[in-house]
Amino acid sequence: MRARIVAGNWKMNTVPSEGVGLVVEILEKLDSKYTGDTRVILSPPFTHLIDVIDHVWEVPQISVAAQNCHHEDNGAYTGEISAGMISDLNIDAVILGHSERRQYFGEDDALLAKKVNAAIRNSLMPIFCVGEVLEDRKANKHNEVVTSQLTQGLFHLSSEEFKNVIIAYEPVWAIGTGETASPQQAQDMHKSIRAHVASKYGEDAANNVSILYGGSVKPNNASEIFSQPDVDGGLIGGASLNADDFVSIVHAM
Ligand code: PGA
Repeated sequence: MRARIVAGNWKMNTVPSEGVGLVVEILEKLDSKYTGDTRVILSPPFTHLIDVIDHVWEVPQISVAAQNCHHEDNGAYTGEISAGMISDLNIDAVILGHSERRQYFGEDDALLAKKVNAAIRNSLMPIFCVGEVLEDRKANKHNEVVTSQLTQGLFHLSSEEFKNVIIAYEPVWAIGTGETASPQQAQDMHKSIRAHVASKYGEDAANNVSILYGGSVKPNNASEIFSQPDVDGGLIGGASLNADDFVSIVHAM
């Protein structure tokens, strides 16, 4: 059965001391009720990856993801961080293709395909984000856009490599806006993503890949979204910065 996952994307928030405070609080709150069925991933900024992994490496169902990596393994790229630098910290995943990277940093499908390769080469699991902007949705092009992002960013992988991928569907119009896709809209897109995966990698691969929903998931809407059959968890932005909210979203899974 595919993994059920709640991942917290802290984005460019928290200084290291606050990040440590947050992970300590999350661990305290998870302890009382946590059954361990849901895999929890925390994604802090680069500056506190080490501090956060130090706090969770002994907890079996909690892991840490970076928010980005460079597509080359080393070289004259001042200011950049490679996938190998991340995996050497015992971190096992990296978020790639987030709409903020696509929008503000000009990351296109071709570059993202290279970043996916760098991640796989260095044993990092890509959490690969796809999603349409509002105009695409209004023009009824959302399926087409997401299908193309998957094909161009991921579908060059071999079947063996694809087993290490997590997909996150994040409609851009729902990120940080307080507006969520309806549970039905999320389900329809997740089903279409799974069908697209099946057309390339077969039914087994499609049934095994975890597809997370992201975009204004909060404690009060999480369980309805997570109850959809093709929604295997969430990628949580704003609400992952508050330990109470994040833990109640984990429990909603
Ligand atoms: P949000 O962000 O939960 O604040 O909408 C989600 C994301 O960008 O991953």
